[in-house]
Amino acid sequence: MQHFIGNARQHPSGGQHIPVLDPSTGEAFGQIARGSAADIDQAVAAARASLGERYDGPWGGVSAAARGRLLQRFSVAVTAHADELAQLEARDTGKSLKTARADVSALARYFEFYAGAADKLHGQTLPYEPGYLVATVREPHGVTGHIIPWNYPMQIFGRTVGAALAAGNACVVKPAEDASLSSLRLGELAAEAGFPAGALNIVTGYGAEAGASLCEHPDVDHLSFTGSTATGQRVAEAAARRHCPVTLELGGKSPQLVFADADLDAAIPVIINAIVQNAGQTCSAGSRLLVERSLYETVLERLVERFQALVAGPPALGLDMGPLVNRKQFDHVGRLLAQAQADGLRVAARGQLHPQAASAGFYQPAVLFRDVPSQHPLAQQEIFGPVLVAMPFDDETHAVRLANGTAYGLVAGVWTRDGARQLRIARALRCGQVFINNYGAGGGVELPFGGVRSSGYGREKGFEALYGFTVLKTIAIRHQ
Ligand code: NAD
Repeated sequence: MQHFIGNARQHPSGGQHIPVLDPSTGEAFGQIARGSAADIDQAVAAARASLGERYDGPWGGVSAAARGRLLQRFSVAVTAHADELAQLEARDTGKSLKTARADVSALARYFEFYAGAADKLHGQTLPYEPGYLVATVREPHGVTGHIIPWNYPMQIFGRTVGAALAAGNACVVKPAEDASLSSLRLGELAAEAGFPAGALNIVTGYGAEAGASLCEHPDVDHLSFTGSTATGQRVAEAAARRHCPVTLELGGKSPQLVFADADLDAAIPVIINAIVQNAGQTCSAGSRLLVERSLYETVLERLVERFQALVAGPPALGLDMGPLVNRKQFDHVGRLLAQAQADGLRVAARGQLHPQAASAGFYQPAVLFRDVPSQHPLAQQEIFGPVLVAMPFDDETHAVRLANGTAYGLVAGVWTRDGARQLRIARALRCGQVFINNYGAGGGVELPFGGVRSSGYGREKGFEALYGFTVLKTIAIRHQ
């Protein structure tokens, strides 16, 4: 697979490629282009040309309503290619076909939502001194750079690229080197749907090469990054050097708080899904379980039974989990687990490996740890694997202190029937989304999403993302 620039496949200028590995076997089944600064330069130039110097180019001159119609056509095309896209993603990332299908639906829904929103991005008129009419207009940044991770390539494509295109930006996307195939295919589908050349460009390659070049390019007007905290810091530093605005979505260590009055029948399956989904490689995974002491043993008993029945195996078998995405991630999770056990942490339950899981695949069965000290790395670091750490709390104050007690702040789940407590806790938690008696609210594309502190800043999804992909300009007209 080559880059997709200006609606055409482009060979990498350096002539080099990166093998594409199947995580369920560890074997190569293709290759992608290894992008360089020259390739990024070409993509940025194509994006700029599509906008035109005065937003009069083939993409810059398209009306908001017509942009919306194009996004809608793309959404329909994605749905029409759902099977193909899901299979491609499952093979490339190791995620189960079920999760890959859900990702395709979410991608189509993002473009549907932003299609409808494109011509509803209003400015305001402002009361001012007599003799003036003052208006604000929302304009696109221009060329936007999108750095996408490997865990939910299509969903993250949908929520950043969909919003950016709806707002009238031209995009350069750098997908993760471990999961580029779906983005490349989406570039082709966008061209077929009628997006003019240069509106959407995909350059593949390594983060330190193509990714860093995108961040440093002087003609990129906005950066949107999803990935690890350490890389996010590098991206923000590069952006700061040239005063480029940036949105960072960096993951978390999100808690689920279970109070003694919780409806456990409702809570238990949701708690499990929140850590098992995508084999735990989810930025908003519910990876810490905080339970009121009087209910702690009951909850653990129920979880142990369920965890022991969880099966990891080949994506095509439709099991609870597929393999982790790559060797690096597999080793990273393995190291954290080995350290936890060397430190004497207690494993309460372990899931199973399917007999058809190849030994060379990157499979990690689910693990439940109990009584984990709140300051232990297992309770503090993002593991990005199917590992849940449980600990008890004594009262509301203790629960909130534990919940807020990591460097992260992305999402939290609260399980209680007490309405006043629901609100007290929701307001006390330092994070971007709080879910009461649910977790994730079905992933609604309408719901602004993002973090605080080490989970990043800026908001994706909903109208907030659209605002983030625009610059507000104030125009004051003196008419007397
Ligand atoms: P990463 O942050 O290094 O990679 C994410 C994206 O950034 C990829 O497209 C990568 O090519 C790019 N990138 C890497 N270095 C870059 C640079 N210097 N400049 C610009 N772009 C660069 O993530 P990883 O190393 O693949 O995964 C490691 C950890 O990241 C995981 O264990 C997990 O904790 C975390 N992670 C979080 C998310 C999330 O959704 N928040 C997603 C993936 C990974």
